[in-house]
Amino acid sequence: MDLCGHADTIWRLHDLGILTYATEDGWCYPVSNAAATVQESLAAALEVAGVQVHLQTKVHDIRIEGGRPVLCMAAPQDRRPMDRVVLATGGKAYPALGATGELFPVLARLGHHIEPLRPALAPLLADMRALNALQGVRLDAGLELREGERLLGETIGNIMFTQTGLSGPGAMDLSHLVSARPGSDLRLTLNLAPWAHDELLELLAAKRGTSWPLRVLLGAVLPAKVPVVLLSMADISTEARMTDVSQVDLERLDRTLTALPLRVTGTRGFQQAQVSAGGVSVSEVDPTTMASLRVPGLHLAGEVLDVVGPCGGYNLQFAFTTGMLAGRGAAAEGQSG
Ligand SMILES: Cc1cc2nc3c(=O)[nH]c(=O)nc-3n(C[C@H](O)[C@H](O)[C@H](O)COP(=O)(O)OP(=O)(O)OC[C@H]3O[C@@H](n4cnc5c(N)ncnc54)[C@H](O)[C@@H]3O)c2cc1C
Repeated sequence: MDLCGHADTIWRLHDLGILTYATEDGWCYPVSNAAATVQESLAAALEVAGVQVHLQTKVHDIRIEGGRPVLCMAAPQDRRPMDRVVLATGGKAYPALGATGELFPVLARLGHHIEPLRPALAPLLADMRALNALQGVRLDAGLELREGERLLGETIGNIMFTQTGLSGPGAMDLSHLVSARPGSDLRLTLNLAPWAHDELLELLAAKRGTSWPLRVLLGAVLPAKVPVVLLSMADISTEARMTDVSQVDLERLDRTLTALPLRVTGTRGFQQAQVSAGGVSVSEVDPTTMASLRVPGLHLAGEVLDVVGPCGGYNLQFAFTTGMLAGRGAAAEGQSG
């Protein structure tokens, strides 16, 4: 068995006693629905395998002496020579969980190129003046991000309107493109009916010439609060009935619904980012063993590398896969060395 792909991860988790289920749209959760049981199963697996675990033990520096890595701990005399080291110290996102990024300068000193670290999978900051009334509204939306005329990225996903911008997976999936361009002229175009647009147009056509309130018809596919805001933005009375609106009005409303413009000003910081973009360039590791091509005896895995995936488990999968490759690579080196 390969043990490196998504199906292998599920198999491996089950083998470790972490039972999972998948929702219809593909999200995978532990049957317990509790992160604590996952952590306990992983800790138990280490214990059963006889792995020594040193918690609350910070590595301050790594030196190479006699061609081997030496871990330098807090006390100056505490130096631990190693045959091989798998470095999986993560990035700088969500420092509340322990991320500091403090070993990046060490990796740079050892010869690695470090792509600048920046927030990713973070809420977007945007000019929300016209959309203030939508605070707290959650819906699926299509998003296109442009710098000037250039399309940088597009996605469909769940978003939430906040006081300062947009949160939710749909918005966060584009955040690494935003944090890479501080000060740029960035614009989002939102399609607020990515799935039910055709049904809405059919409903509006069926009710043409009737006295149905337009706001109520929009409510068939949009959460409360959204119809009123859209009608105001499209310069149509929020009390308008189908008899009151022209074809031109409906077309303007449709453009507001499917191509709502929003100026993006940045992202929230590392405190609210789920991952960090940047880190050690992947071109500086052997992809089959994750061995550093710069530092003898060092293997790198997970978010310390310059890889960022969208919401949906891709970052965890990358950490699992590269961790597996690094562990195997380090062990194989030991057997051949
Ligand atoms: C709130 C939140 C939600 C997330 N949700 C998802 C999700 O749904 N799906 C997904 O794919 N990803 C998600 N992620 C991202 C995912 O958790 C990370 O990409 C993944 O955990 C990275 O694994 P890693 O082992 O590389 O680093 P980490 O999990 O960050 O582990 C690094 C460890 O190294 C330790 N460390 C750091 N420096 C030192 C040092 N100097 N000495 C000793 N130890 C050190 C840290 O304390 C930490 O324990 C989420 C992240 C957050 C914060």
